[in-house]
Amino acid sequence: MEESKNESTMNILTQFQNLQQSGMLSSVENLKKENTDLIRIVNDISHLISLTEVDSMIDFLCSRFLEYFIPDRLVFLFQPPRKKHLRQYVYRRLVKTDESISTESFSFLKDYFDQNLTHEQSGAVHYFNEIKDSLPSEISDSILEDINPHFVIPLIAIGGTYGIVFITNKITDTEYSDSQISYISRIFSILSITMQNGLHYESSITDSKTGLYTNDFFFSRLNETLSSVKRYKQTSAVLILDIDFFKKFNDNWGHLVGDKVLISIANTLKKTLRNEDCIARFGGEEFSILLTQCTSESVFKVAERVRKAVEDMVLYEQDKPLKVTVSIGGVIIDYHEDLEPRIIFKKADQALYYSKEHGRNQSTIYKLGLLDLARMHNNDFDIFDEE
Ligand code: GH3
Ligand code: MG
Ligand code: MG
Repeated sequence: MEESKNESTMNILTQFQNLQQSGMLSSVENLKKENTDLIRIVNDISHLISLTEVDSMIDFLCSRFLEYFIPDRLVFLFQPPRKKHLRQYVYRRLVKTDESISTESFSFLKDYFDQNLTHEQSGAVHYFNEIKDSLPSEISDSILEDINPHFVIPLIAIGGTYGIVFITNKITDTEYSDSQISYISRIFSILSITMQNGLHYESSITDSKTGLYTNDFFFSRLNETLSSVKRYKQTSAVLILDIDFFKKFNDNWGHLVGDKVLISIANTLKKTLRNEDCIARFGGEEFSILLTQCTSESVFKVAERVRKAVEDMVLYEQDKPLKVTVSIGGVIIDYHEDLEPRIIFKKADQALYYSKEHGRNQSTIYKLGLLDLARMHNNDFDIFDEE
């Protein structure tokens, strides 16, 4: 009995040795690893294609890299449609930074990839060492000094290269494995498509001068908000801003300086408000803001914060400090009330008119209901009631 048990153990060991010697075991191990790699890429691609915003795509990519490898630096340069300036994202150890790199190299790399690749090769991983001699030496020197990339990846659409990604060595200073390189190439070939769609979508819903949302987009967000206000018995608010005496400003300083003011106000609004608030350029020099889930207590405070932020803004032109102010009209969107976009705008407009008529550079909120009205008056807030 004992003997036959020993014999069967010996048999198993011999079979194991045979399998090992024939290389079968390592093939199985390799298959397992390839399977894990494939599952990883399929899962990541499925997630990536579900995203619509460029920032979320890049955030997602970084979060996936973080679990796999950490490059010292990761730089994305994009040419968004209809825009003069390139957009850039610079990551150190996969943490987003405010650093900016010189974008002079973009057009040279674009020319190189446009001449040598087709859009089917978008996302292919290139070693910077192998392409650097095809660039003017001052350009390749400045890329080396600025970024020192290990890989350069072109994002190519039918119209040509619209993005360049630089990936440096890993922080561990070990080589990238074949499966990591293959992952990078696969994920970027998909990213190049999702990113292009994302950039086109963004450009269709944003105003090209200020980067703020368009009117159409604002109204679609307003309609969504109205539905949830009704469903969940919430309150939200709309503010309209109009620059004071802007015609005079343009007459004094010219339209180009006027445009700089519009861009500065847009940036100030983005900095002053929450990410989830929808900020749109409503017309020439008017802006609209949708404050989601804003209480009647906070709407005036938000309006005043925005107004003061614009008041504190200083723009320099020929060394002269220039300042502008805005008048603001606001309305609370309350689930008890008439939730018609047209009526909401009419009320906000009337409040804005009140601000203009009563001295400009001030905020007025359309009637908030009797209790709020009393409290607001006590606080000496400017409030407007139609009745
Ligand atoms: P107020 O609103 O205080 O009553 O005076 P205002 O002079 O700002 O008002 P009005 O609506 O009469 O003028 C708006 C001006 O905004 C007219 C136009 O010159 C300027 N404007 C509109 N769109 C643009 C733009 O895209 N760029 C520049 N630079 N100016 C613009
Ligand atoms: Mg106006
Ligand atoms: Mg105006």
